[in-house]
Amino acid sequence: MRRKRIYAIGLLFLLSAGLLGTVEARQEAGNDGNNVDASIRRLISSVDPERISKHLFYLAKDPLPYRKLNLTLPGHEKNTLYEADDYLAGKLEAWGYRVEREGVRVQAFRRDTSKPKSAQYSPPKPEDPWYTAYNLYAEIKGRSHPDKIIIVLAHKDSPSWIDSPGAYDNAIGTTGVLEMARVLAEYTPESTIRFLFCNEEHTPWTSKTAAQKAKSRGDNIAAVLNMDGIGAKTAEQTAAGKKTNVTAYTKPEGKHLAELMAEVNARYSIGLEQRTAERPQPGDDDGSFVLAGYPAAVINIGSLPYGDPNYHAEGDIPEACDIENAAMAVQATLAAVVTLDRDL
Ligand SMILES: [Zn+2]
Repeated sequence: MRRKRIYAIGLLFLLSAGLLGTVEARQEAGNDGNNVDASIRRLISSVDPERISKHLFYLAKDPLPYRKLNLTLPGHEKNTLYEADDYLAGKLEAWGYRVEREGVRVQAFRRDTSKPKSAQYSPPKPEDPWYTAYNLYAEIKGRSHPDKIIIVLAHKDSPSWIDSPGAYDNAIGTTGVLEMARVLAEYTPESTIRFLFCNEEHTPWTSKTAAQKAKSRGDNIAAVLNMDGIGAKTAEQTAAGKKTNVTAYTKPEGKHLAELMAEVNARYSIGLEQRTAERPQPGDDDGSFVLAGYPAAVINIGSLPYGDPNYHAEGDIPEACDIENAAMAVQATLAAVVTLDRDL
């Protein structure tokens, strides 16, 4: 009898301890969730459209009208793409990053004026000049699993076959990645966050080397988010004041990322007209990673099919860019990256 009572008391004690433990664990998870939420809200509120605008005008107007290997400004020692590299590296270093450069041999495209304006790039001849284009890398090592890597990237060069400032394509995405690097400089991630500034308007694309080298090193890349043409859309959408973003994926793993973009846009009331789209085949710099065996890769782009009326033309100038829209796309991408980092 007595023994039974002891058992009963013991059982009650165990049950209540177990219950308390569960409640505590739930509270902790809740607090952790709230903390993550608060830290994401803080980070996205630091995204600064004025800084984005300043970088954009620097890289696509004054002092650098273009960013290409085959154009050096009168009186300057370096070509305009190298000058852009120095600007980006200087900013990143000022925020405490160590910048790594990876050289890749490339050529400028030739121009075929018989083709539509947006697609006048044509293959170079072997005797055309060769240059070294650089991939720039900066990263923050993860605290808990530094081996897992989230990549945020943008191509930084402007069209090599035509005098287009490439403001939407892709000084805007470059400044977006730069702004994310600034905002995240004080953040301690669980996984490694790697920023990559590559080249896609010369040939071959340097993102191909970046992706293939990552694969041969055995890098564990959990996600790749490409920012190219963020905020770029049709003249009608611009006139109607639309703030758009399309996250396009090729593989199911990329679809998860695209769905995450939609979730964070809603959760943090960012206000984008956010859409997901499936690409029929890998494309752009995210495609380089898909082709190298990293299926969780997406592009964030203002419209798809790409609606910018000045695509690959002289009129792709910073004044025509919707900086507010681009800043919203940066906020959503940043929120997705930090959410991924905490969930990985
Ligand atoms: Zn382009």
